Amino acid sequence: MAYDFDLYVIGAGSGGVRAARFAAGFGAKVAVAESRYLGGTCVNVGCVPKKLLVYGAHFAEDFEQASGFGWSLDEAQFDWATLIANKDREINRLNGIYRNLLVNSGVTLHEGHAKIVDPHQVEINGERFTARNILIATGGWPQIPQIPGHEHAISSNQAFFLKELPKRVLVVGGGYIAVEFAGIFHGLGAETTLLYRGELFLRGFDTSVRKHLQEELTKRGMDLQFNADIERIDKQADGSLKVTLKDGRQLEADCVFYATGRRPMLDNLGLENTGVKLDSKGFVEVDELYQTAEPSILALGDVIGRVQLTPVALAEGMAVARRLFKPEQYRPVDYKMIPTAVFSLPNIGTVGLTEEEAREAGHDVQIFESRFRPMKLTLTECQERTLMKLVVDARTDKVLGCHMVGPEAGEIVQGLAIALKAGATKRHFDETIGVHPTAAEEFVTMRSPVAG
Ligand code: FAD
Ligand code: NDP
Repeated sequence: MAYDFDLYVIGAGSGGVRAARFAAGFGAKVAVAESRYLGGTCVNVGCVPKKLLVYGAHFAEDFEQASGFGWSLDEAQFDWATLIANKDREINRLNGIYRNLLVNSGVTLHEGHAKIVDPHQVEINGERFTARNILIATGGWPQIPQIPGHEHAISSNQAFFLKELPKRVLVVGGGYIAVEFAGIFHGLGAETTLLYRGELFLRGFDTSVRKHLQEELTKRGMDLQFNADIERIDKQADGSLKVTLKDGRQLEADCVFYATGRRPMLDNLGLENTGVKLDSKGFVEVDELYQTAEPSILALGDVIGRVQLTPVALAEGMAVARRLFKPEQYRPVDYKMIPTAVFSLPNIGTVGLTEEEAREAGHDVQIFESRFRPMKLTLTECQERTLMKLVVDARTDKVLGCHMVGPEAGEIVQGLAIALKAGATKRHFDETIGVHPTAAEEFVTMRSPVAG
């Protein structure tokens, strides 16, 4: 049977665009449908605008520290509307770049909501198109628990477009988004509370990293409330929000921001017209080749719920395009040693095993740790400290994990990730000459393991 397209991609986000462009580059006839915004979550309401707001928030510290270097400034003023307008302009520019990337690579772009009507057919804007393969790359959506008053809360989707900076913000959650946005609001001058239901935020990260960030955020005056959960939210006559916690305490805020995870975006996608199956958490189930239970339909990125990061969606998009249209170049995505950063203030950068994971996996673990006041701060009042940690297997000398909390941690850990991927040992680290004077050189000068 002749199909309209070899591949019909639903979702022009990180993974969908990568798969579509490469598939078209390999000679396939490709269409991509996008209902909301070109570039998807990362470009519009994720990585990119988030990082711009983090940069904005960081200026508060820069202004404060500048006086130690002889600069005097009139009192710094911040205007939220300017930051948001400039951010929007940049995102518009990126949307245009994504449009050009797709069109120039020969992909047909359909703007609208796509619905699968049978395993080889998609309907969009009242038209139907057939395809040999359909790729579900529809991403995720914020998930807010349905507590009484949840309609008064916002998610990251709205946070990027607030008309003004709230005076008092309550951020709920202890994952990436909660920690990053708490830093943004706090840095920009809002009275910020971070409320997390467990003992300590950032579950899954190295315990030293979690505790170090807790100390640093507390030093900066952020209100951290752990073992705390919201029972209900009530709007008061003056527009402010009264938040009642499960332990009976009450807090007041102008904005309650939930960052409690993301669900797969499957709304009105027509999966009932296919044999596609979902896993126990509701994400699209795929095998190692991104194949769903329906032979002609594949899925990747956040919608399969493996690792919800843009570079992972990009790698999966590339793998799918190669697998379908350039099988001789196909290489499976390696999910080990994925580096990641949390753009909190200060940043976290991490790659490889945490100390806890390494011990659990039975390694004979040696820990190297360094805590220091960065050189840049020595002429300032700022008491921020940086943490660097290496997790090493004493038997093989292999470095199993690198963890950092401090300025530019993400930038530093990206390079270390290559070393770990190549199987670097502690001896390789020791024999590497440092770049002086930098903070990063500390990773190659830690000589004695910490006791324990
Ligand atoms: P998406 O990028 O979500 O794209 C899916 C696209 O499909 C969307 O454009 C959507 O509109 C479209 N779509 C959905 N349904 C349909 C339909 N039926 N028809 C047509 N179109 C449809 N990751 C990082 O690596 N680093 C970061 O710093 C980072 N920061 C983040 C900050 C925030 C606030 C958030 C929310 C996420 C962040 N992420 C970050 C995660 C990253 O954004 C995602 O992992 C990535 O965007 C996933 O790509 P994707 O292609 O799977 O889906
Ligand atoms: P995460 O899964 O990272 O964190 C969710 C947090 O919400 C956890 O602390 C979780 O607690 C808590 N939580 C979940 N359900 C509830 C509930 N019902 N009530 C109270 N708390 C709850 O999700 P995020 O929303 O922060 O981010 C989604 C994903 O996006 C991330 O996992 C990451 O993959 C990606 N991302 C990446 C970024 C980066 O690379 N810098 C930045 C932002 C997002 P518990 O731990 O107890 O389960």
